[in-house]
Amino acid sequence: MCIFCKIVEGEIPANKVLENDEFLAFHDISPKAPIHVLIIPKQHIENFQSTPPEIMAKMTPFIQEVAKKLSLDKSGYRLIINNGEDGGQEVMHLHVHLLGGAKLIWPHLAPDKEAKKYV
Ligand code: AMP
Repeated sequence: MCIFCKIVEGEIPANKVLENDEFLAFHDISPKAPIHVLIIPKQHIENFQSTPPEIMAKMTPFIQEVAKKLSLDKSGYRLIINNGEDGGQEVMHLHVHLLGGAKLIWPHLAPDKEAKKYV
């Protein structure tokens, strides 16, 4: 069982923000911003690339509710999904990072020398 499935099952503790039958939001263990929450489907889905569109459609209002609960809906926030190896995905269970609580920087995410050539 993957680590996020263990959190869903209650085998690993998590600092939960919001939950319903299908989705769970909890604070990231290693926050990259003052507020850093992960939003996951309770169902195990490996990554964004294999996610059925209905899941994302249902996840949208849940994420909006999480943002509201954290009082980020007016001030703003950033959503990130890391997909696959180049995307830096470490946990193979779909998760949306919700980051906020400060004016976030928008850094270069790769050194130019590592850029792949696309035609
Ligand atoms: P990613 O690199 O997109 O796969 O992100 C995985 C995220 O999961 C990282 O930001 C980790 O800090 C976070 N993480 C890993 N284990 C836990 C855990 N047990 N509880 C909360 N967050 C976790």
